[in-house]
Amino acid sequence: MDDPRYHTAQWKKLRAIVLRESPLCHYCKQAGRVTVATTVDHATPIARGGEFFDRANLRSACENCNYSKRDQTEDEFLVKGCDVNGIPLSPNHPWRQAAHG
Ligand SMILES: [Zn+2]
Repeated sequence: MDDPRYHTAQWKKLRAIVLRESPLCHYCKQAGRVTVATTVDHATPIARGGEFFDRANLRSACENCNYSKRDQTEDEFLVKGCDVNGIPLSPNHPWRQAAHG
């Protein structure tokens, strides 16, 4: 998160738009959970060639998902470690530890 672009007015504006359009965590939603998003994640990480300021590359995310996903692409994150219902297999996964409700 130390990319200087995170401190630009352009990013802050874009981030606010994404959170307003999609107030719930995109990744939790895929797993059937309803979690308020507090961060905006790059679906394809910048380190993997994703566009920084591309709205189409941005996903609302909760801190747990954003932290867990890190440098994985959206597809890798959603497929890896999840059963057919999208529930993470690992008992230590943040999705299982986080208090929901
Ligand atoms: Zn989430």
